[in-house]
Amino acid sequence: MVEYNAPIRDYDFLFNEMFDAIPIAQRLGYDFDSDFLSMLTEGWADHAKEVWLPINQLGDREGLKFNEGRISMPPEFKSAYNSSREGGWLSAACKPEHGGMGVPVFFQAVTWAEIGTSTNMAMSVLPALTLGVYDVLIEHGEKALVDYFATHLASGEWSGTMCLTEPHAGTDLGIISTKAIPQDDGTYRVTGTKIFITYGEHDMTDNIVHLVLAKTPGAPEGTKGISLFLVPKFLPSDWESGELVGISHELCADDNGVSCSGSEEKMGIHASPTCVMNFDDSVGWRVGELNTGMALMFQMMNQERLATGMMGLGLAEIAYQNSLAWAKDRRQGRDLKGPQDPNEEADNILVHPDVRRMLLEAKVNNEGCRALAAWTGILLDQMHSDDLEEAELATALVALFTPIVKAHFTDVACETASTCMQVMGGAGYCTEYGVEQFYRDVRISKIWEGTNGIQALDLAGRKITQNMGKNLRYLMWPLTEFIEENRDIPDMSEFNKPLHQGVRGLQQLTLLMIAEGQANPHFLASGATDYCRYFGNVLLAYMWAKMAKISIEKIGDPFYDAKLASARFFFKRIFPETVSLAAKIQSGHKTVMEFPTEMF
Ligand SMILES: Cc1cc2nc3c(=O)[nH]c(=O)nc-3n(C[C@H](O)[C@H](O)[C@H](O)COP(=O)(O)OP(=O)(O)OC[C@H]3O[C@@H](n4cnc5c(N)ncnc54)[C@H](O)[C@@H]3O)c2cc1C
Repeated sequence: MVEYNAPIRDYDFLFNEMFDAIPIAQRLGYDFDSDFLSMLTEGWADHAKEVWLPINQLGDREGLKFNEGRISMPPEFKSAYNSSREGGWLSAACKPEHGGMGVPVFFQAVTWAEIGTSTNMAMSVLPALTLGVYDVLIEHGEKALVDYFATHLASGEWSGTMCLTEPHAGTDLGIISTKAIPQDDGTYRVTGTKIFITYGEHDMTDNIVHLVLAKTPGAPEGTKGISLFLVPKFLPSDWESGELVGISHELCADDNGVSCSGSEEKMGIHASPTCVMNFDDSVGWRVGELNTGMALMFQMMNQERLATGMMGLGLAEIAYQNSLAWAKDRRQGRDLKGPQDPNEEADNILVHPDVRRMLLEAKVNNEGCRALAAWTGILLDQMHSDDLEEAELATALVALFTPIVKAHFTDVACETASTCMQVMGGAGYCTEYGVEQFYRDVRISKIWEGTNGIQALDLAGRKITQNMGKNLRYLMWPLTEFIEENRDIPDMSEFNKPLHQGVRGLQQLTLLMIAEGQANPHFLASGATDYCRYFGNVLLAYMWAKMAKISIEKIGDPFYDAKLASARFFFKRIFPETVSLAAKIQSGHKTVMEFPTEMF
């Protein structure tokens, strides 16, 4: 029996004590106070636990059924989805004029995402994708397109997909071959095959709205010639020309030349369809300017990259909770210093240092990632501030954090899920206890939305030099300010000193990556993954030092005592990996690139 308790107290601490989420949200124009935030968090946690969690194992076991181009989902998934839709839980972040609640982005991007994934990752990706399509559409779509599609997407009545990948074009989207031919009525006819499309076909919603990357005739080579098209599975029944104004919302019985020719069998998320989608002269509308498709899709992908980082955290958290619950019951062996429970046949496994190490690594990485997620979530709101300075700073930090949240959270989450399975011994490997499902489900998070290797290259090759290095400068301000503020506080020295060293190391490594990388791109690319992990560790160190600072002032309360002890564990047992990461980065590219290819 899988257990789950949403980390509500942690969110309260992060949003109300560590970051001033409510005053910021109010300043940005949200009608939102801390009581409403608590009500929302608790309401969503209760709903997800009652409706999504109980069918998570069923989804894994039964998966979906593909038959003659149609995919049917388990009936339990359909009723859970409808119940969430009716409760308004799928449209919290959408605008009130489209029927949403209009809550701050941080609630959706952080709290909703983590709880949704913990309770049912396969289910949670459907509304996450739909919201991504909605956001791109309302920002870049023409009014008629927004008027026709936005409300249906916001309500969850229709769902969305992102169609990028083709059989020969995964990471390298510049070589896609899907074509979009302009028509006299202003629409396009889209033809091509996309693979691996999440929820490309299913029967949970009445219509599926695909955002498709395609090339128009004569478009420039590579990614500069890609445009974005909205292609619905079903067109409106009285649709005759490209005109969407004033037509009914009844749908045609025949699909719009959009068909699904298969669904992948895969390691995890069995109840999330992964489809081969064929577009055959399908009617589509362009979203945004011609040849700007990659930039627009990147807007959605960046959102999904952050969401993917949260998927990692969500699964790592539920894996931790279940391995801890199991460990609390399990008795094996004796404490090395002598029996703790002499009247029992054996001591509880929590007496063993190695079991404690595993659980602490999981707990401390999860809480560190959650803190960084909370900060990133608030920055997502601040990006839209009318105060241009605030918006610029937030935009720069989000650009910098996106590859780190995606790659570091999911790398660590995959390790955590594996560690939690290890805590449970053989039981961890068995289906009954659920943790092996989390281990399988979480693995995709390192691959989709751009592999973690690509995230690392984005960070090291683009984000640190982007805007003349402003992204990094904006991060260094709060970091150096914090280090200075705490330099002479004795209780903070165990946290502040290693943080200071880590930040200095990051600056040196960054200069090395830029200088050597300019001379030889193989140097930069060989060190990018280690650099991303180093950077992730420095950000978590900053989060843990901040959490320690708050907790020192509240010693005696178990919540804060645990935070302080966790901060100590982070700095002594996790952060030192930065030393070996630095050595690997400094060793350069030669051992990697001079290894003869024929000797692999
Ligand atoms: C379950 C699932 C769901 C998915 N959902 C969607 C979806 O909804 N929509 C969609 O469009 N796609 C989706 N994808 C596709 C996913 O985004 C791609 O699989 C992913 O981006 C990697 O592309 P690829 O599989 O072609 O790997 P490849 O591009 O072939 O990469 C293979 C390896 O080479 C590395 N590599 C490739 N190019 C470079 C480079 N330039 N520099 C360094 N390393 C490089 C990669 O990091 C990787 O390790 C999904 C995939 C899966 C498995």
